[in-house]
Amino acid sequence: MDQSWRVRRWDLRSKRCNYACILGVFDLNAVLLRPITQVLRIHVESEDHIQALKDHGFSTERPIDIRVPHTNLSAVKDFLKKNNVPFTVMINNVQELLEREKAEMVSNAKMERSTKSFNFAAYHDLETLYSFMDTLVASHPNLITKVHIGNSYENRPMYALKFSTGGVSRPAIWVDAGIHSREWVTQASAAWIANQIASNYGVDPSVTSLLGQMDIYLMIVTNPDGYVFTHTNNRMWRKTRSVNSGSSCRGVDPNRNWDAGFGGPGASKDPCSESYHGPYANSEVEVKNVVDLIMGHGNFKSFISIHSYSQLLMYPYGYTCTDIPDKSELHSVGTAAIKELTSLYNTIYQVGSICKIIYQASGGSIDWTYNIGIKYSFAFELRDTGYYGFLLPANQIIPTAEETWLGLKYIMEYVCNHPY
Ligand SMILES: [Zn+2]
Repeated sequence: MDQSWRVRRWDLRSKRCNYACILGVFDLNAVLLRPITQVLRIHVESEDHIQALKDHGFSTERPIDIRVPHTNLSAVKDFLKKNNVPFTVMINNVQELLEREKAEMVSNAKMERSTKSFNFAAYHDLETLYSFMDTLVASHPNLITKVHIGNSYENRPMYALKFSTGGVSRPAIWVDAGIHSREWVTQASAAWIANQIASNYGVDPSVTSLLGQMDIYLMIVTNPDGYVFTHTNNRMWRKTRSVNSGSSCRGVDPNRNWDAGFGGPGASKDPCSESYHGPYANSEVEVKNVVDLIMGHGNFKSFISIHSYSQLLMYPYGYTCTDIPDKSELHSVGTAAIKELTSLYNTIYQVGSICKIIYQASGGSIDWTYNIGIKYSFAFELRDTGYYGFLLPANQIIPTAEETWLGLKYIMEYVCNHPY
């Protein structure tokens, strides 16, 4: 759900002095000319380790995966060794993965142009995902409508696909992906899942029965500005793109911006941080648009947010480690959903509350939805566990989507069979 701590960006534009500049090894030109970067996973084993990291401006929420440019590598490794903090190299050469990903996208785009088809096993830019949505709606006009829920900060339209067989304000299930823009396997999986729902209706009895009783809203790109930025400027961009007054750093973490424990532990008040909570709850129009849709609708029974990476299925709360009243039910639904998910490719997931399974994080979407009465509120963290992290190769999109769909479908069926 939130990855700020996993791949900590050594933000060149940040005014804040990071570890590299504390050490006096920061060399902007060298970073730009030699973009070889590694991801290190830090294994903290004691309070001393945690303190040493905190003293040097690291986030200590776990697992701690930090992205370190070539020029800082030996200094960071020396620091960790000096403090006896164990670490492993998770990604040996980030640049190599980025280049491979880019080359695959270019050749795929060429192939799609010549075949005039959408390849689910590839990553796509916003325009292509939006045109895929139009094609899907056009080929299932009696099932799907495109709901324009508002525009983003940079004025891009935000669309949810509404799967409905009729009725007025039927009980509904919300699914969103890509609120953190760099989590590319989530938007890609959501596109596959949209197609799966459309093609299973009238074929798979469980999907048919579900859509006979409930509507599904699926938002493939919940942070369109951030998503475009990941394609044009910085593949590792996570936040929105709003301007922060009084700061040269842009963007707010849209999953720290909801009105649930807003501004509490596990969110940053620093606009340069990747987990900056924003000036006030719902300050981000992307969040506000979803909030308005949910409130205006008034009959959502389930809200599921899809993130990557870590292979987790989580329920509230994040802002406190206090158990929710429905903990035992949500835990057993989550466990059964993961059993389905794992059955396909044996991908191992963990189930638990956000606070207990990863760390305390305030202002998250599913805490807000749970608190307004949407009992079945869940967040997925898809593949992997850090080997590729956000740079999951495109050949894992379909397997990831397939297994996720099994888990999602289980939750949807359960929600449908347990009205409240
Ligand atoms: Zn996330």
